[in-house]
Amino acid sequence: MNEQNIFIVRTGEVALKGMNKPYFEKMLQNRISQNLREFKKQAEENGWSPVSVRRNEGLIFVRAPKEIPEEKVLRQVSRVFGVSSVSPSVESKSDLDAIGECAVSFMMKQIEERGIKTFKVEAKRADKSFPVKSPDIARIIGGKVLKGCKVLKVDVHNPDVKLFVDLRRDETFLYDRKVSGMGGLPLGTNGRGLSLFSGGIDSPVATWMMAKRGMVVEVMHFHSYPYTSQRAQEKVERLVRIIASYSGTVKMHIVNLLPVQEQIVMHCPEDETTILVRRFMMRIAEQIAKKNGCQMLITGEDLGQVASQTADSLVVTDQSVSLPVMRPLIGMDKMEIIDRAKEIGTYETSIEPYEDCCTVFLPKHPVTRPKLSKILESESKLDVDKLIQDAVLSEEVKEIRY
Ligand code: ATP
Ligand code: MG
Repeated sequence: MNEQNIFIVRTGEVALKGMNKPYFEKMLQNRISQNLREFKKQAEENGWSPVSVRRNEGLIFVRAPKEIPEEKVLRQVSRVFGVSSVSPSVESKSDLDAIGECAVSFMMKQIEERGIKTFKVEAKRADKSFPVKSPDIARIIGGKVLKGCKVLKVDVHNPDVKLFVDLRRDETFLYDRKVSGMGGLPLGTNGRGLSLFSGGIDSPVATWMMAKRGMVVEVMHFHSYPYTSQRAQEKVERLVRIIASYSGTVKMHIVNLLPVQEQIVMHCPEDETTILVRRFMMRIAEQIAKKNGCQMLITGEDLGQVASQTADSLVVTDQSVSLPVMRPLIGMDKMEIIDRAKEIGTYETSIEPYEDCCTVFLPKHPVTRPKLSKILESESKLDVDKLIQDAVLSEEVKEIRY
């Protein structure tokens, strides 16, 4: 009996990377290792068999001691960006008698635990030098299961269990399910960005989507304390922690925007407040991004969703900075964003009713078609550089861990 649970990890898009494939695979292997760090520690402390992550023939194999529940390992591995699917497996020597024995004990367990009645075997022979062809392997193993598990019948159309036999040169793996991963690319393979992160529904999804494509994300949050509460900020930290559960530790930059907002409210037309505040957010974020080696800004803006997100507003917002601004949600409908937020686990936290700095000085009728010339004229009444510099200097930094 194995002392370890084995998981076959498939790599999806990483496999398409041609010449760079080894680099992407190595990055993925590292990310999976990192996501299993807690289990490694646990195994060491308790003297269990070790946790290992190895690459072989385009697949990644994770081994973890039996003492750690299979579902827990599965959850940690399937959350890693770049993983397309994971199968908890059992391992056998690559000979038909051994595979047959393994298949019988695998099925016995399924009968005990799930009361299954029917099955089907599918086989794949990665080792073409093996003398028996795939359909014959399936037939032979099916026969052994029928003999060893008298209660089972074959059903090729709608079996309770479909047993996959993956025969390789050194060993054979048997499994009956593929758990979908997140897809995407391993974190760290696509630069670094700074995400403007509110407590709303959109920006956590936007952040997650960029991280999913391999970008290391840092987050930038603005509050207007004491107009916004400590509890509101804690909610944002909880959201960042959910992102960290996928991406590992996230660096969070926090700035009080109130001094900027007060100047705007005091000196500029009320209907321009929103767009002016947004331009300041972008410029402060840009400075912090540059200081931290972030190549681009990320927002959760979505075309047409609110006044500050009309085409004209987005253009005038962009004209405040020189770094590229990524808006991964730009073409999505709100319902699609909500569905994604539910899927990644941020939605329930996002809808907790806390105030955001953007709602503190909300104008009654915000401009929806701002003109850059007019906005620049309003900004000329402010000491823009000093306001930005002071904000950047007041920055607080936290490392948010899962
Ligand atoms: P979200 O659900 O992300 O809050 P939203 O639909 O409420 O988005 P806005 O409030 O207009 O839209 O914000 C648009 C974008 O501006 C957000 O997605 C986020 O990137 C950024 N943003 C808004 N408020 C903040 C904040 N307090 N701190 C940092 N970024 C913010
Ligand atoms: Mg918001």
